[in-house]
Amino acid sequence: MADGGSNMKNKKGRTVQSHINTLFAAIEGIIKPEVTREEKVLIAGVGSGGGRVAEELVRIGIQEIVLLDKPGEKLEVRNIFRHTLGHSDIGRLKTVAMRDRLKDINPGCKVTCANIDVVSTPDKLPPLLQGVSQVYICVDNEEARHVINQAGVEAGIHEMILGAVFDGGCGGEVGRIKPEGACYACMTAFLERTVPPPTFGEEKPIDYSNPNKGTPKSTPALNMDIAQIAILMARIGLQSILGRTNPEDDFRGNYLLFGNRVVKDLFPYPLFSKTYIIPKTEGCLICGSVKDNFPGR
Ligand SMILES: [Zn+2]
Repeated sequence: MADGGSNMKNKKGRTVQSHINTLFAAIEGIIKPEVTREEKVLIAGVGSGGGRVAEELVRIGIQEIVLLDKPGEKLEVRNIFRHTLGHSDIGRLKTVAMRDRLKDINPGCKVTCANIDVVSTPDKLPPLLQGVSQVYICVDNEEARHVINQAGVEAGIHEMILGAVFDGGCGGEVGRIKPEGACYACMTAFLERTVPPPTFGEEKPIDYSNPNKGTPKSTPALNMDIAQIAILMARIGLQSILGRTNPEDDFRGNYLLFGNRVVKDLFPYPLFSKTYIIPKTEGCLICGSVKDNFPGR
């Protein structure tokens, strides 16, 4: 019986490996498996945006993922039209349900779940960043963004990619933070934000078109509005990885503004897109007073 069980296990193992090989064969003409296999990513915030980012990263062959969310952050019915998870996962921790989802796509992917509050226990974050090459900041809390930014800068993460969806899902922004460039504190200072930036489409989007009078509102966004920005995050992450061996593939800039719909004085037409280079802030308390390497815009 023991041998039979072992044979069955081996057979199952061979089948899974055969499936994984077939999965990678489908993308190999564009992305060589060895290019993404060595990456380890952390996704902070597993809501509608972070969940989509996670799926996209698994589908390009990322093999090691840490999913980070607040303690007790569970999937609710109201999330479903804007989440990659469905009814069968209601009541489950989003991190754990997303781990199952990711492993359902690629059984060879190693997924770790961490449910911690980075704002009240920031000391728990650095150990999670060990060996991580990319961090995707998809949290809907401004303080948490700054805590993750600081920990990532201190850890020397290759790239931190941050996304936000604007009021009502009209568009959004994606920032890329690299050790030699502007950090999130630099970016918020450059953009002269007097209120926190918008959330990632979860609960309280801010009226970005007039941030000075912005107060939290509960305007809904469509899943496709959020997914559009999430896919841009994953795309910029991929181009960053490819850019390590071929600079032509790299994202040109560190800040992308994208309009899903027309917004007066912000997005002149649907699918508006513009890339900027935001410089380091001289004397930034987080990333230091390194001389500005960029000409600005
Ligand atoms: Zn900075």
